Amino acid sequence: MVGCKIRLVKRKTDWVNNLLQSRFFGSCGYHRELRKNEKNMFCIDCNLCFCKHCVGSSTHCFHRWLQVCKYVYHNVVRLQDIQKYLDCSKIQTYKINGEKAIHLNPRPQSRDQKLSKSKSGAACEACGRHIQDFPNRFCSIACKVLLKLRLNFHTLYGDWMFG
Ligand SMILES: [Zn+2]
Ligand SMILES: [Zn+2]
Ligand SMILES: [Zn+2]
Repeated sequence: MVGCKIRLVKRKTDWVNNLLQSRFFGSCGYHRELRKNEKNMFCIDCNLCFCKHCVGSSTHCFHRWLQVCKYVYHNVVRLQDIQKYLDCSKIQTYKINGEKAIHLNPRPQSRDQKLSKSKSGAACEACGRHIQDFPNRFCSIACKVLLKLRLNFHTLYGDWMFG
């Protein structure tokens, strides 16, 4: 059953890739007339992002979903939510509203920051961004996942974040 196992492992990371590449906080096409219709929920079982009215429907009631929040213009998830489904060890956490959260994607950085990483020591192994707390090795979920899958960082994000 080797083939079966491989398929399962692949499926396991499929939703993570979609989570990392989803465009959150657009308004939901099904709930235009309702308030708070921004798509800030990600349903793991459907592998798509939804608004909270969608997730509240019977379709998703037994599904596993995550809430995505915005922190200084970047998408974060609560550590306690996502660590149930994904191993988040060695990813830098941030305290947001009293709860630990982690970034979905690496944040753009200037060249100056990149150059200054040598004096501080710790840097993200995937994108080189400064890491606050040792022994963390990654600044975001994307960086950890990319390195694990051995994907080329530039193919996914292009050069925009290194400008
Ligand atoms: Zn909706
Ligand atoms: Zn669902
Ligand atoms: Zn990084």
